Amino acid sequence: MMGRPGGLETLKSRCNSSRSLSHSGSYHILDIEIDRGFEPCDSGMCHTVQGDIPLYKYSEVPHFLQGNPYVVHGYRVLLPFNLCVKSLFIWSNETLNIWSHLAGLFIFIYLLLYDNIIVIPANNGSLADHVIITLGIFCFQFCMACSAGFHIFCCHSERASQRWLAVDLTGISMGIIGCYLPAVHYAFYCLSIWRDLYLIIIFVLTGATLFIQLNPNFLKPSWARHRLLIYVGLVAYGVVPTIHWFVENGGWESRVVQLFVPKVIVVYLLGMLAFFFYISKFPERLFPGMFDYVGSSHQLWHVVILVTFLWWHQAGNEILLFRTSHECEA
Ligand SMILES: [Zn+2]
Repeated sequence: MMGRPGGLETLKSRCNSSRSLSHSGSYHILDIEIDRGFEPCDSGMCHTVQGDIPLYKYSEVPHFLQGNPYVVHGYRVLLPFNLCVKSLFIWSNETLNIWSHLAGLFIFIYLLLYDNIIVIPANNGSLADHVIITLGIFCFQFCMACSAGFHIFCCHSERASQRWLAVDLTGISMGIIGCYLPAVHYAFYCLSIWRDLYLIIIFVLTGATLFIQLNPNFLKPSWARHRLLIYVGLVAYGVVPTIHWFVENGGWESRVVQLFVPKVIVVYLLGMLAFFFYISKFPERLFPGMFDYVGSSHQLWHVVILVTFLWWHQAGNEILLFRTSHECEA
């Protein structure tokens, strides 16, 4: 269903001028109006018709929802909390973004139970194995939940969108920790000093990333490239412990290196593919409007991130099996 552009203009223009209004508190009043179920109409603000979730074109939506001009239709705009939740079950341009990571959350809830009840006991794992695998999966679950939350509620208001963006970015940091934690623990299983050192460095780098988020400029669109560079740097740092691990284990001759280097290469290729979709806005850049609901770059980014986490989780289980079946050399 399409919106009523005349009415929307009223709220859109108020929303676009919200920065200047925020000093007088009107910005907060706007949020309350949204949650009380008011919506713009030709005569001003009218009560939202419950269950009615109109979708708008890119040119009609407030500036905080204008992130990708190549996604032309299907925008939810200024929905109250209950309609944000209800919009899970309508077909908008966010539906696949939401459900791809909700599905990821459910898959990792299942894997948390499966690993702790079946996989770790079957491999004679210790309490430490339960803790490390569980923490790694918690990070993935947190990332999936934050991302789904952002895409459900980003259309509520500019303030909600900014808050949920901060939550989403925190989730990305946690997702990266979830990749490092079991990998470093098992890769340096027999070199506990290096294992602890690399884990400390990763926690410090991630803590620094979260600290940078407190900068008021961090969430601004003008910082999008900086944000991306920070996360790329956090991921790229993994090459350092990987090379160290490769050398410590005796290079290509080593069985463990032959087993796990291909898995590390695949995870970095998947990461590069994900960032390619994120940066390039491919394929919708070539055919604006064609991939609004299915197949847009952000949906592909979500799917590749989920596949990357699942691949890395499986590699983690295989290195757990290797470690529990091979003694450390003295
Ligand atoms: Zn997303």
